[in-house]
Amino acid sequence: MNLDSLLQKLKMEHLQLGLDSICEHAAKQELDYRAFLTQALSEEWHGRHQKGFESRLKQARLPWVKTVEEFDFTFQPSIDRKLIRELSGLGFIERNENVVLLGPPGVGKTHLAIALAVKAAEAGHRVMFLPLDKLLSTLLKAKQENRLERQLQLLIYPKLLVLDEIGYLPMSREEASLFFRLVNRRYERASTILTSNKSFIDWGDVFGDQAIATAILDRLLHHSTTLNIKGDSYRLKDKRKAGMLTSLPEEETPTTT
Ligand code: ADP
Ligand code: MG
Repeated sequence: MNLDSLLQKLKMEHLQLGLDSICEHAAKQELDYRAFLTQALSEEWHGRHQKGFESRLKQARLPWVKTVEEFDFTFQPSIDRKLIRELSGLGFIERNENVVLLGPPGVGKTHLAIALAVKAAEAGHRVMFLPLDKLLSTLLKAKQENRLERQLQLLIYPKLLVLDEIGYLPMSREEASLFFRLVNRRYERASTILTSNKSFIDWGDVFGDQAIATAILDRLLHHSTTLNIKGDSYRLKDKRKAGMLTSLPEEETPTTT
């Protein structure tokens, strides 16, 4: 068998593609056999890793991609940079712990949630991003179509699930109970990142029922890290700088999305 067929049979497509330049490089550098083999296999490994990462990113359905490196910590001093660095190490995913990002609009909650999701996908974890309204409509539809169990099963599959924007819309009792079932299923099995504009005290109103809110928080917060972000909206920073928003009180500042 010739080299091309061997590489094809072994499914080493990345090595096959880069073979000429790797051989050329090895000849120029006068690499010994071991160094050459290391380079050749690294080429295949990096190619596979990149392909896997791209496919996990696609499956994650992120609304946009942002990284931790793109986050300006000097703009948001209430965020503990060390804590974000620690979370970026993804130990929380290994331990099936949760992360809750709380704060007013525009402070970077979704940005940080996405950035951690990207890190997770890069490290080989299955990731899924769902805005809360999408999650609830998916669960309601599945329930109506008698396939709730299967849908819940699909939502347990991702090692990291990002549930974005809890609290913007109040939930019906049925929605709250579906949300509870999901949280209960993922509890101690997989990690969830949640973002919310409401502090925990107001979650009773969000879920429309204090008892359900307590049960949800009990499971979510048992193994978790909460970041309470206090600060100005990044979206409005230029307008604020230009003095356009000085007359508006903090709570009423509009957001642009
Ligand atoms: P939130 O989810 O808290 O409402 P977002 O994460 O959607 O806010 O942030 C709004 C926009 O501002 C996004 O485009 C985000 O990337 C950007 N942004 C927010 N905070 C920062 C920051 N500290 N550094 C860089 N970009 C930021
Ligand atoms: Mg957001």
